[in-house]
Amino acid sequence: SRYFTINDFPQGTPRRELFELREAELPALAEGEVRIRNSWLSVDPYMRGRMSGVKTYIDPFALGEPLEGAAVGEVIESRDARLAVGDRVRHMGGWRDIAQLPGNQVEPLPGIEVPEQAYLGVLGMPGMTAWTGLNRIAGMQEGDNVLVSAASGAVGSLAVQLAKAKGGTVVGIAGAPEKLAWLESHGIQAVSYRDRDAGQLTEALQAACPAGFDVYYENVGGTCLEAALNTLRTGGRIAVCGMIARYNAEGPAPGPSNLAMVLIKRLRMQGFIIFDHWADYPRFLEEVGPRVANGEIDYAETVEEGLERTPDAFLALFEGANTGKMLVRL
Ligand code: NDP
Repeated sequence: SRYFTINDFPQGTPRRELFELREAELPALAEGEVRIRNSWLSVDPYMRGRMSGVKTYIDPFALGEPLEGAAVGEVIESRDARLAVGDRVRHMGGWRDIAQLPGNQVEPLPGIEVPEQAYLGVLGMPGMTAWTGLNRIAGMQEGDNVLVSAASGAVGSLAVQLAKAKGGTVVGIAGAPEKLAWLESHGIQAVSYRDRDAGQLTEALQAACPAGFDVYYENVGGTCLEAALNTLRTGGRIAVCGMIARYNAEGPAPGPSNLAMVLIKRLRMQGFIIFDHWADYPRFLEEVGPRVANGEIDYAETVEEGLERTPDAFLALFEGANTGKMLVRL
């Protein structure tokens, strides 16, 4: 098996050299274990938190051990009666080509007719996050005006489409021109945060939605949050899903200087961790799965080729190099 590991907990933006590709002979399968040949690996922003050496809501990665992450692959050997050779499965043994895990940590792919890598993106953890944040945390209602940051990413690209289908004005913040174009081609008003300070971003958002927003789906933090606070309506709700602008930060965070808006506008701002909501996953699949399968909901992917490129795919998330879900194909 070939796998990636790290030997240090990085400060600031991780360097490519941090990631070491190693090879190890796998032991024979123990009773209850399965061996899986991975075909798709997920890289996700939360993995940066696991590289900081500190336990948050999840343990840090163990130095020198294989990194972990969501992956999709095929069972090639099994000593678990519930899993047969040839089964297509999802599990957390990513960042490697061959995974060996207890069968009870491995999940057969659901039966909806979509390409299997969709279970790492729009119908996987990121999609479930978008649906939960919008509906369960922000309590989005029909006709609400919704603002989403990192709007063309894995989470954001589903959040904007689910919001749009419920009627109100939906505005997405993203960086690169092709991401703005992707949003606009899906009927979403797109605003770039690049080369704009919080004041200029506020003006651009006000122009896009003069009535103001009822919901802000927060993925980024920093100037996006500052501008969102200015453009939310009284009684607005913020689902705090992520704050990627800070994940590689070395010093303490500046602003938002206008956090008092939470008080003045009686805003409700709630953070959430998707794992607490996983019992709702079947409900999410039932509601969103058929809409992905029939094309009503679209999703984008950015694919890097080969296990060797996994760290590059991960690091590119912080450069905004992905539209939609960032994946590695083996
Ligand atoms: P994305 O596919 O959205 O990829 C990350 C994107 O973030 C980039 O493409 C880039 O888009 C944007 N970005 C990166 N750095 C910055 C920056 N400094 N300033 C502004 N934008 C930046 O990732 P995901 O959809 O997987 O995750 C989106 C967010 O959701 C993250 O914050 C993540 O941590 C969070 N999350 C939270 C979960 C939870 O349980 N609460 C579960 C899953 C995800 P652009 O070009 O637009 O800048």
